[in-house]
Amino acid sequence: MKRAPVNKIIPFSNVDGPGNRTSVFFQGCPFDCLFCHNPETIHLCCDCGACVDQCPAKALRRDAEGRVAWDSGLCVQCDACIRRCPHDASPKIRWMTVEEVLGEIRRSAPYIGGVTTSGGECTLRNDFLIELFTEVQKLGKTCLIDSNGSFDFEADPRVLAVCDGVMLDVKAVSPAWNDWLISYPRDQVLKNLDYLLEAGKLQEVRTVIFPDRDAENETTVRYVAERIGDRCDYKIIRYRPYGVRERCQKVLGEYETDAAYAQRFADLAQSLGAGRAFVV
Ligand code: SF4
Ligand code: SF4
Ligand code: SF4
Repeated sequence: MKRAPVNKIIPFSNVDGPGNRTSVFFQGCPFDCLFCHNPETIHLCCDCGACVDQCPAKALRRDAEGRVAWDSGLCVQCDACIRRCPHDASPKIRWMTVEEVLGEIRRSAPYIGGVTTSGGECTLRNDFLIELFTEVQKLGKTCLIDSNGSFDFEADPRVLAVCDGVMLDVKAVSPAWNDWLISYPRDQVLKNLDYLLEAGKLQEVRTVIFPDRDAENETTVRYVAERIGDRCDYKIIRYRPYGVRERCQKVLGEYETDAAYAQRFADLAQSLGAGRAFVV
């Protein structure tokens, strides 16, 4: 039976797409964004054991096979394990079947409009998503993918046939800025931007605006705005340093992006035809 590593499921979220939604966060991401707010979602646990002794609730132990096991019933969610982990991982992962994830969705189903899958990067579990969305659609709920754009949707469009849209991060367009910020080639992301637009599956695009990075911010916003026009929302997101890694604060600064500065880029996007651009 197919299983996927689930970092967490939020039964009711109003920030992961339109309306009230259940959000399923999968573990694992091929990117290593400097400003990642959830770096513990990037890698799978390698059972090094460094976090076990840090747990004040004795919720972590080595099992008979030497793996690190997590007892959710004992866990007090203090996140000491995550702070200790040197591998950008978490011991608090559940390897779940589609039926198990669906079971949690069914409990919130009367109160939600749909389901959003996120991460990490949920498209690493493409076959799992296809099965999950097929079942969620039978409940009469919409399905959205929150993606960093690393998956080649054109080469394998099966998941698009069972989902309502993709919320796509376009973090950097200038190659040098992308290499420095993301540590992953940007070409697939930009290809997806065009492909998803043409396929009518682009729900929204998101770009984080960094303080005092005029040229880099403008290059990205121009590129996106000139392509999307009015065809989808464009979220201009203020950089906030909370929860990011220490090395990020050192190079990107300790201050969040000023609202007026971010608004400049929303205005620029609108002037280029992206009428649905707004700051969050
Ligand atoms: S794509 Fe998202 S989860 Fe992956 S490293 Fe970047 S910010 Fe973190
Ligand atoms: S978050 Fe849970 S598992 Fe991790 S250290 Fe705290 S109590 Fe232990
Ligand atoms: S979560 Fe991190 S520190 Fe804990 S065992 Fe896994 S890799 Fe090691």
